Amino acid sequence: MTDRRLLMIPGPIELEPDVLRALAAKTRSHLDPEFVETFGRTLGRVREVFVAPSAQPFVIAGTGTLAMEVAASSLVEPGDAVLVVDTGYFSERMATLLDRIGAKVTRVTAAVGRAPELAEIEGALGSGSFRAVTVTHVDTSTGVRAPVREIAALARAHGALSIVDGVCSVGAEELKQDEWGVDCALTASQKALGAPPGLAVLAFSANAMERCRARRTRPASLYLDAGEWLPIMQAYEARKPAYFATPAVNLVASLDASLARIVQEGMGPRVARHATMARAFRAGIAALGMRIVADERVASSTITGIYYPEGVDASLVAAIGAEGVIVAGGLLPAIRAQYFRVGHMGAVSASDVLATLGAIERGIVRAGGRAELGAGIAAAQRALVS
Ligand code: PMP
Repeated sequence: MTDRRLLMIPGPIELEPDVLRALAAKTRSHLDPEFVETFGRTLGRVREVFVAPSAQPFVIAGTGTLAMEVAASSLVEPGDAVLVVDTGYFSERMATLLDRIGAKVTRVTAAVGRAPELAEIEGALGSGSFRAVTVTHVDTSTGVRAPVREIAALARAHGALSIVDGVCSVGAEELKQDEWGVDCALTASQKALGAPPGLAVLAFSANAMERCRARRTRPASLYLDAGEWLPIMQAYEARKPAYFATPAVNLVASLDASLARIVQEGMGPRVARHATMARAFRAGIAALGMRIVADERVASSTITGIYYPEGVDASLVAAIGAEGVIVAGGLLPAIRAQYFRVGHMGAVSASDVLATLGAIERGIVRAGGRAELGAGIAAAQRALVS
């Protein structure tokens, strides 16, 4: 029988059939006029999804970590001071890779489940001269959503570039890159963009592109240098073939199919749908008496971290899997063994939310805990119709 288990992890996610079909189409030359058209169209659609009509989009073979490296390597030079707004595992990764390129990293942190206070970020910015501020829009380890709009404004006021890791947010959370003055927003194909893993997707503001041009030193890595990719992206958008490193043609075609759906849904309705699904899911979890890692005020629409209920340990993840829904274990080292994570992004529907809550309820009972069967589902149903 086909594997009908529902994939509810924070990426990769369930894909739409037309996205899979595009992936399986004949592999074309990267210089083929049909691929040139597809890639050019994809780059235009990236602008729409990032709500960044004036930004320079990049689509590069690689994962989200590569997108982080491209941003950091292109915009930060050895010796530059960078402020990292730390909300979990992926903020820590950003700090690590900035350190590898010789940046001087300062962190602003918060308790698990919280976002740092804006006053603290402003205080840190006032205490030095920072080249850039980095923030993880939604940290996938905690489900905390950071106030990107306000942080980008603070960065600009202090003459620093804003770099937003939107791997777990772009395509699902509100992001208005141009309007908010975000200098670099980045993501990957496998989460709310609804395509398979394998593509790094970035958009640079004019200010960020100017920063690339005005560098004192060249980035140590060729592949990570946005300046090397710029003429390639410009060529494809002008519907001309170009070569620097072979584009992942099938992945680009599948991303194009997914972006077409996203643009058709519209970013406003799409953001609202994710918020509705996330609220219904959290209502279900709360009704089962479980505690959510992220404070309600900063809880994301894409992923929810949930502490295991009394008497239940990490075996719950496998128990939920056996009930037909694949969820993820803990990731943040400080609480890794105490919680699990559920992704709800992309094609996520009310049926997916209800199926997941049902599997969680049964999983808890199978794993030896106590759950009032149906209580989570009922609460989610009420939230969905309210
Ligand atoms: N940043 C965030 C917020 C992420 O969620 C992830 C992936 N889970 C990454 C960066 C790294 O992306 P990848 O695993 O595709 O390298």
